[in-house]
Amino acid sequence: MTDATGERRLRQLAAIEVAKLRHVGVKRTEALAGLGITSVFDLITLYPRRYIDRTRRAELSDLAIGEEAAVFATVESVKARRTQNGKSLVEVVATDGERFLRVSFFNQPWRANQLSQGVQAVFFAKVTEYRGQAQMANPVVDVIVGVDGEERDPSKVGVIVPIYPASGKAGLTSWEMGGFVDESLRRAGPLLDPLPASIRSELGLLDRTSALRGIHLPTAMDDVPPAKQRLIFDEFFRLQLLLALRRRRQAEVEAGVSHPVSDDDLDVAPGTATTEHDSLVRQFLAGHRFALTGAQRRVLGEIAADLRSPRPMHRLLQGDVGSGKTVVALSALLAAIDGGRQGALMAPTEVLAEQHVASLRRDLEGLYVHDDGVLGGRRPLRVQLLTGRVKGKERAAGLEALASGGVDIVVGTHALLTDDVCYHALGVVVIDEQHRFGVEQRAQLRDKGRQHSAEGRDPDLLVMTATPIPRTAAMVVFGDLDRSVLDELPKGRKPITTTWSRSVTEVRDAWQRVRDEVAMGRRAYVICPLVEESERIEATSAVAERTRLATNELAGLAVGLLHGQMKSAEKDAVMEEFRRGDLQVLVATVVIEVGVDVPEATVIVIEDAWRFGLAQLHQLRGRVGRGQDASYCYLLGDPPSDDGATRLGAMVDSQDGFALAEVDLDLRGEGTLLGARQRGRSDLRLANLRRDEALLVDARRVALSLVAADGLESHPELVDELKLFVDEEEAAYLFKS
Ligand code: ADP
Ligand code: MG
Repeated sequence: MTDATGERRLRQLAAIEVAKLRHVGVKRTEALAGLGITSVFDLITLYPRRYIDRTRRAELSDLAIGEEAAVFATVESVKARRTQNGKSLVEVVATDGERFLRVSFFNQPWRANQLSQGVQAVFFAKVTEYRGQAQMANPVVDVIVGVDGEERDPSKVGVIVPIYPASGKAGLTSWEMGGFVDESLRRAGPLLDPLPASIRSELGLLDRTSALRGIHLPTAMDDVPPAKQRLIFDEFFRLQLLLALRRRRQAEVEAGVSHPVSDDDLDVAPGTATTEHDSLVRQFLAGHRFALTGAQRRVLGEIAADLRSPRPMHRLLQGDVGSGKTVVALSALLAAIDGGRQGALMAPTEVLAEQHVASLRRDLEGLYVHDDGVLGGRRPLRVQLLTGRVKGKERAAGLEALASGGVDIVVGTHALLTDDVCYHALGVVVIDEQHRFGVEQRAQLRDKGRQHSAEGRDPDLLVMTATPIPRTAAMVVFGDLDRSVLDELPKGRKPITTTWSRSVTEVRDAWQRVRDEVAMGRRAYVICPLVEESERIEATSAVAERTRLATNELAGLAVGLLHGQMKSAEKDAVMEEFRRGDLQVLVATVVIEVGVDVPEATVIVIEDAWRFGLAQLHQLRGRVGRGQDASYCYLLGDPPSDDGATRLGAMVDSQDGFALAEVDLDLRGEGTLLGARQRGRSDLRLANLRRDEALLVDARRVALSLVAADGLESHPELVDELKLFVDEEEAAYLFKS
């Protein structure tokens, strides 16, 4: 099971079950499986959480009272009892052979089993004193050696002891884990390094074998950072290789469409006279309410070039809230229709899809398309809504028209590319506000687009997002897309004054502002607290909040209600009343979050604002400031957490979506960003997008150049390794020769 050179590949390690290890029997196999570890590969990619430097840990004799310390000691005795008020208390006495440490655990009865006599562990907490003796309460505990964990030769363990995550939960000690890893690495011998030596030395990276030994079995703390560098590089590198390969593959296999769209038509000024012989794009822009911003024009030019090319477009359009993405999207959809094809617009929610349909119908009114099937050869351009809520006859008719070409633009959620939906000829797909979509989902969407279109070609794809994505994150999540950025807001936008209202007077001022603005003919949103558990409970509390406001702070105003449990017809009606001004205030749950566009709305009050994420708050605030008038955002509530306070502070300080996104990335880390969307094994385990940006940039550059050279043909070891990180279907797509 080794390479010709005798060096093992990761894929071979993935084929060796942990049960093959000397000390892993049935019980431990199960425990490891509980941690998601079934193979030797899984084991060696579970990295230590931290290390204990045995030469530098505190001795019991030199503990300073009042300071934090990590103490390595052996459990001498354990007592579990209940306190007078019935709480569980586990009291442990630990010793270094000379002195003693009292450790108490409140409400952690399981500690009695974990810390039986003879167990060696590190206790980490602030040291206090009790009757002249050092004491710790509820410390962090890392069990190093369990009572029955004696198979490992203690003399073979270095001064640096790695601490493995989650091992306590599974009933495995760090000592045992370290033993398994040690055995694995020793028995595996030297590992094949698929990264060419020239690149390694150019970037100053360790070879793979040294890196894995360095992180698992360091002989000094200095061994760890360079080991991590290399492993982090690998995490980025694999991801970037896959992205680059995917793009290359797309270019090879895709049969796209060349849409007729001229730059000339993009430069048309509003009010220019047009005829039915002009392109729809030209007619639309000439008839539009305003001239394009410089950024809109530039981005449309980039998109038009993609649309004209026979290669399918894969483009991400980033533009902050209110930057005017809709016009751009519509122009792209119209270009498809100019070529006799159809466009699809996908929204993240049904509410938003419904709203898009309404505004599209308004914006596209008066446009006609050629249709030989009808009398006169022309018919009005047809926009069709297709969501889960469109049912029965209406749905059947819509589907029929879509398949026959009687519908030009279809709007819905991503159910648009599933099941029963077939297109006559799908030319352009626009996905709105979809930063939550991963690489694989997008690939799927594209495949569906082709499969569902009678033409059998790959539609052009435009992904839009208002959530500014830090550059590094974009490289990871959207690394397979070209990027366009709308970095300019339409002229005349006034800043949105953002206030964090904590005191009773400040809150009163907020409601007063709502009344003042409404008195001037403007409109206001009130966002109800987020209820994580259930949309139903959230709806109930929104109903109550509306009633409360309508009879108290906002008495006398026309206050409407919008929440996720309402029927779509009800929602439509409410939105329409709000748009018209029959409703002055709209009390809503986050269903309002994305895309809702009422330019007369100038105030938004967000209750319990700290419950929302930063991206969400920024989106919500973007519901106002869309017209010519000065706007206001009030953030209500006193955050119970530091993170909450940081978020609200950042909102007050900045209106720049990119700056906020950086703060968000700092607060939440990459986990939430990538979410479950990246496949398990390709997860970034060690990498941190902010800290390791330089490595990411290197990894991307190297990956692009290797793939560009020959699609990895001269690097079979890399191909072999990548197969470990993708499923079979994808491997077949990426590596089919
Ligand atoms: P978003 O990028 O958030 O989707 P929208 O497309 O909804 O932004 O546009 C926000 C608002 O700005 C809308 O009211 C829209 O009509 C208006 N708008 C878009 N482009 C321009 C422009 N070039 N000049 C003036 N107003 C514009
Ligand atoms: Mg929008």
